[in-house]
Amino acid sequence: MNIEREVLETDILIVGAGPAGLALAYKLANLVESDDAVELPEILMMEKGSYVGAHSLSGAVMDPRGIAELIPDFVDKGAPLEAQVSSDAMYYLSERRAVKFPFIPPSLNNHGNYVISLNKFTGWMAEQVEAKGIDIYAGLAGYDLLVEDGKVAGVQTVDMGLDKEGNQKSNFEPGSIIKAKVTVLCEGVHGSLTRHAFEKIPTLIEGRLPQSYLTGVKEVWEVPNGRIKPGQVIHTIGWPQPKHEYGGGWIYGMSNNMVSIGYAVGLNSPDPTNDPHMKFQRYKMHPLVRKILEGGTMLHYGAKTVPDSGYYSMPKLYHGGLLLCGDSVSFLNPQKLKGIHLAIKSGIMAAETLFDCLKATDLSANMLNKYEERFENSWAKKELYKSRNFHASFKGGLWAGLFHGAIQMLMGGRGLFNRRENKADHTYMLKIEDYKKRFGHAPEKVSVKLDNEYTFDKLTDVYKSGSTHEEDQPPHLVIADYDICNNRCTEEYGNPCQHFCPAHVYEMVDDPDRPGKLKLQLTPSNCVHCKTCDITDPYQVIRWVTPQGGEGPNYTNL
Ligand SMILES: Cc1cc2nc3c(=O)[nH]c(=O)nc-3n(C[C@H](O)[C@H](O)[C@H](O)COP(=O)(O)OP(=O)(O)OC[C@H]3O[C@@H](n4cnc5c(N)ncnc54)[C@H](O)[C@@H]3O)c2cc1C
Repeated sequence: MNIEREVLETDILIVGAGPAGLALAYKLANLVESDDAVELPEILMMEKGSYVGAHSLSGAVMDPRGIAELIPDFVDKGAPLEAQVSSDAMYYLSERRAVKFPFIPPSLNNHGNYVISLNKFTGWMAEQVEAKGIDIYAGLAGYDLLVEDGKVAGVQTVDMGLDKEGNQKSNFEPGSIIKAKVTVLCEGVHGSLTRHAFEKIPTLIEGRLPQSYLTGVKEVWEVPNGRIKPGQVIHTIGWPQPKHEYGGGWIYGMSNNMVSIGYAVGLNSPDPTNDPHMKFQRYKMHPLVRKILEGGTMLHYGAKTVPDSGYYSMPKLYHGGLLLCGDSVSFLNPQKLKGIHLAIKSGIMAAETLFDCLKATDLSANMLNKYEERFENSWAKKELYKSRNFHASFKGGLWAGLFHGAIQMLMGGRGLFNRRENKADHTYMLKIEDYKKRFGHAPEKVSVKLDNEYTFDKLTDVYKSGSTHEEDQPPHLVIADYDICNNRCTEEYGNPCQHFCPAHVYEMVDDPDRPGKLKLQLTPSNCVHCKTCDITDPYQVIRWVTPQGGEGPNYTNL
């Protein structure tokens, strides 16, 4: 169907108002302000969440290096900081016990860092950006990346008002074409337009290792006075993750007796029943965690993936008409599992590059290339390079990973190997028969009784994410082949989607047309935009595409 679309033109288009995109907009405005010879270009900034911060979810302990470089007086300017880190502890958990590490390795020391709620923090950053005269269009979602004559030319936004079958409803509004001299993708983890960029411009990822991910599942609780101090930071490794799988938990003291508690699970698991949400529910039953939560109330829930393979997975960062920033392109230190400061730094470097381009009135790829040069000479590169082999260390399991991680620290990041080959996460999942051969038994998911007091089912948790989607629209989880889901996947893997999704989007229900058989049923309106399904599906027949703008989670305090 040929749809007539409005065409808008701008100088710079920023997709995504997370730390990376907001830092870019703020820094560029600042640089232009400081130079009378350069005028602020036309900037259009879009964010798919209904407000800035609606889709921001993090731990979060923030290293202030990025924000201090961007806004040196961020504390005086009222940045929402829950607390400065007041204590730091790390535990190894078995099912009943918690063994405290006698020391915190220097690279994991959080002295001087801040506990924040990222979604409050990005809300505040957005206020600073808007004060510079830049408008942020929240509720506007990029759907397709436009590439013309080999160069990125802009973005098409999502069509609004289509029904489930893709027919136009009375409120139909076609997505616009936004043409830009430079498009900067700051979409965060596993960005959908960033993925288009990699598909349409394969040289961006040529020779780079595939990205790996964790899924982080998180709740914010209000707990009785005195249970945890603001700024108290606890990290755990071990239980309930099996020793051959990667992951761990966190407990951070926030202000007003709130606590951020979460569990992150590697998606390169061999187990087709891998269920990050259920592992998190089990985690909360550990005595160490339970004694903090007892008598408290769960306030908020969210889930999101984290890109954790680091430096060797970073693509080329520029192309004609394109710059790439933040989590989308692995600006995250896997050893510290921190990316906020690096996302901000990537935004700063992109802004400095664009400022040079504006001064030279040259926005060509030759000039955009300076972004990559800046990165090469930055503290961000040094930090990412140091942790370049960290993720790969855990291929041999927890103890091998810890051992190798320690050697890397002593050897400045190299360790006993360098640039170990990595495959895409979904390729590590074993078919049931292969799992039995490797582990001597069928995969079995360990569950806890969900009591609706400390432990919750996925639907209750989704309700606490505030996620909403118009139900009568084309599903934004596009299944390329239902036949694979309803037959091959059931037999070979037991339909892992019903386990790995932390929002109960995927369910296997009785198929009335095939008595005794199951079929896949989707509830896309539950989706919290974590992207776990797109990454983990073993056949890669699930594709996450952007739904209508302004939909998805409405996070607060996360
Ligand atoms: C569970 C978890 C725990 C973490 N803990 C920590 C921590 O303790 N410390 C730390 O430093 N880091 C932590 N991180 C990582 C940190 O949150 C990220 O590195 C950081 O948020 C990346 O910033 P970003 O701007 O690149 O992406 P994001 O923060 O993800 O922002 C991207 C924005 O782009 C928007 N967007 C995406 N696609 C589109 C589109 N097509 N159209 C319009 N808008 C779009 C999204 O809605 C989002 O608002 C954690 C992450 C997770 C998930």
